[in-house]
Amino acid sequence: MPLVSTRQLLDEAAKGGYGVGAFNVNDMEQIQAIMEAAKETNSPVIIQASRGARQFAQDNYLYHLMLAAAELYPQIPLAMHLDHGNSFETCESAIKLGFTSVMMDGSLKPDGKTPATFEENVEVTRKVVDYAHERGISVEGEIGVLGGIEDGHGAGGSGLDHVTDPDQAVEFAELTGVDSLAIAIGTSHGAYKFTKKPDGSVLKMDLLLAIHKRLPNTHLVMHGSSSVPKDLQDIINQYGGKLKETWGVPVEEIQLGIKNGVRKINVDTDNRLAITGAIRKVLWESPEKFDPRDYMKPARAAMQKVVAQRMVQFGQAGHAGDYTAISIPDMAKGYADGTLITKPLVAAK
Ligand SMILES: [Zn+2]
Repeated sequence: MPLVSTRQLLDEAAKGGYGVGAFNVNDMEQIQAIMEAAKETNSPVIIQASRGARQFAQDNYLYHLMLAAAELYPQIPLAMHLDHGNSFETCESAIKLGFTSVMMDGSLKPDGKTPATFEENVEVTRKVVDYAHERGISVEGEIGVLGGIEDGHGAGGSGLDHVTDPDQAVEFAELTGVDSLAIAIGTSHGAYKFTKKPDGSVLKMDLLLAIHKRLPNTHLVMHGSSSVPKDLQDIINQYGGKLKETWGVPVEEIQLGIKNGVRKINVDTDNRLAITGAIRKVLWESPEKFDPRDYMKPARAAMQKVVAQRMVQFGQAGHAGDYTAISIPDMAKGYADGTLITKPLVAAK
């Protein structure tokens, strides 16, 4: 299947009542792990790259690896998404390269650190939406600011500093016409999300439910949604690592989100933990080894296992064959003639 639009994947997920994992990549082995997990579980999938990943891998490598994935797994609907675009120019360059969806994170100024005003966020997001939709590319916006910092991107602080206001979410969706909306409900990027198992005081699922009630047809996106499982932390520490005790977002909370409008779930940290644990184990147990394949193979397998598990937990497993790809030019026509709706349905308070 050619690379498809994230919008199509999320529309189908809404029809089927499931969520789609969006997994971050920097290199070939991570793409391979995700595609094998998608094949194993028969899942549609979103692969995403941040600005940091684009810098690390270089755009051309990334794009051609993604084309290889689409060629090798023609049965899997696969979208290539830009994670946390910081400016119009970043989104534009991703679209020119061949990404099939972009996130314009206008919740922060272009420095990727300072919270932007609501008006600034609307202005830059609207500009990206106009440019992207004309080309059949879908756009994710963000309202509210997530906690933590990853790859140099983020406002830092706790996830509770700038949680999403439901009224602003409605206004933002109406003014920008985004295809999906990332909301801040207390989650943070990175491994250190919560200092204890999160409850309602730090993970604001009630806020998510309130936003979904007002915007019942808008695809919601949960960022910073790794579960940071204890067994993956333990493997790292067992083989010489020094992770401090930490908690992520429990899978059952994500599943509650999926019942309430969450269609895209971003996962990165869990895969990083799985890879690092597997590499540490090999190097610790067999210090004589020096062929990178000796540790990259188990690392890739460990990531595949986590991704496959999430695909089953999010409900996307089994849905790869439900639909055929809409071409990107046809998506552009859909935006132009209004068959792809971008005006959100707004329910009364
Ligand atoms: Zn994020």
